[in-house]
Amino acid sequence: MQSYLKHYIDGAWVGSEGGTTYQVIDPATEQPCTEITLGTSADVDKAVAAARRAFETWSQTSVDERKAVLMRIIDEYKKRIPDLARSMAQEMGAPMALASAAQAPTGLAHFAATLKALDAFQFEETVGKAKVVHEPLGVVAMITPWNWPLNQICAKVAPALAAGDTMILKPSEEAPGCAAILAEVLDSAGVPAGVFNLVNGDGPGVGAALSAHKGVDMVSFTGSTRAGIAVAQAAAATVKRVHQELGGKAANLVLEGADLASVLPPTVAGVLANSGQSCIAPTRLLVHKSQVDQATAIVKSMMEQTKVGNPLDEGGHIGPVVNKAQYEKIQSLIQSAIDEGATLVTGGPGRPDGRNSGFFIQPTLFADVTPDMRIAREETFGPVATITTYDALDEGIRIANDTEYGLSATVSGDPAKAAEVAGKLRAGLVTINSWSPDIAAPFGGYKQSGNGRENGKYGLTDFMEVKTVVGAPA
Ligand code: NAD
Repeated sequence: MQSYLKHYIDGAWVGSEGGTTYQVIDPATEQPCTEITLGTSADVDKAVAAARRAFETWSQTSVDERKAVLMRIIDEYKKRIPDLARSMAQEMGAPMALASAAQAPTGLAHFAATLKALDAFQFEETVGKAKVVHEPLGVVAMITPWNWPLNQICAKVAPALAAGDTMILKPSEEAPGCAAILAEVLDSAGVPAGVFNLVNGDGPGVGAALSAHKGVDMVSFTGSTRAGIAVAQAAAATVKRVHQELGGKAANLVLEGADLASVLPPTVAGVLANSGQSCIAPTRLLVHKSQVDQATAIVKSMMEQTKVGNPLDEGGHIGPVVNKAQYEKIQSLIQSAIDEGATLVTGGPGRPDGRNSGFFIQPTLFADVTPDMRIAREETFGPVATITTYDALDEGIRIANDTEYGLSATVSGDPAKAAEVAGKLRAGLVTINSWSPDIAAPFGGYKQSGNGRENGKYGLTDFMEVKTVVGAPA
């Protein structure tokens, strides 16, 4: 079992003041695989004090100094990709192929994209007669989820370091190993003491303490809308900046006449990758009534060809979902669709054939799903897709937008027509004939999917304050 019982505070691994041990369960074996300490508010106080002290000097470093640190991080990070991939495979179930090719490298890509953005960033501009300056924001608390754990961590740590901020990271207690390895990477890269701190813990403990802390200037949160609201409420009394990257329920609007055999595989792949545990997974297929039979046959075949297997094995299979709670939630949503009258095309309740343990879900497709069904409204976070038919395009667009979320939407079909439709979709990301974002371009949600943007120039801007200086010599 991996053991990360200490927090990383002020440049050293230190024991907790009063924390309790927590065991992470390997979702494939249902056995403990990692132990951490759930920290306390005393641990949080110590980390915030260290970050405040370090801000005095880190905020005054030059852009060149910060670029040099980012470059050293990139070098150190590359050495640890196999360790990072294995940790995520074991703790949250991403198969090694995905963990090595995507989960671990996306964190690195954030450092590289941030370095590029920092190089081009305009820290000063003239507006009217004033000088407008982007400055380091202060101490940032970062609270992150388990599904793309390192991606979300690095989407915050990289721009915050680049901006001259100091930080305390509380990673998900379900996938803490990659955060501990990242702390080792930053330590080896010579990030000065106190600039980056890691306190393990759960939401109601460390997460709530960070959100409410007077010494924290910003909380950058990625996770569920439920927890994001709790963070904002806890943060309100101190008027700190709150940056929320929350849940999603993305549509895949398949345009009438689309060449289904070519556009469905690269978009429906987003429902299967990472066992459906992506906030932008385009699970709600909206298909023109004239093409519903053909679309159903193609997606059914994709689901049935998808193998489910052990995350630590090599191969193109998908793994389990992260934990028992997620497994049960997905089972409940599958059952709700059956109870509400959707047609089960393939997959369904229970584990795949031949498995009687592990949090494995059958790749599942429902047809005849109406927009009011639970399966069409609630975030599923499993390898489960639904097909809903529409008649006129306006109706398809209306159903796509008929969700409290607005993180992303996919359009499948003629790219020029899809680009026109993109302007009518109320989501922060629209992908055409694919489901992946662009790591250099802004990422964030409309509506209850959050506020603020991460990545590249926009990420840097969101981790900085803006100062206006009137009367400075030209
Ligand atoms: P979660 O909300 O349960 O947990 C996320 C983090 O918040 C964890 O670190 C958790 O410990 C912490 N937390 C929980 N309750 C808290 C509280 N009251 N105060 C402070 N912190 C608290 O989410 P999860 O299950 O880890 O992740 C899945 C969710 O994340 C999905 O809803 C998914 O859509 C969302 N997500 C969003 C994005 C995005 O960029 N918009 C990206 C990935 C995941």
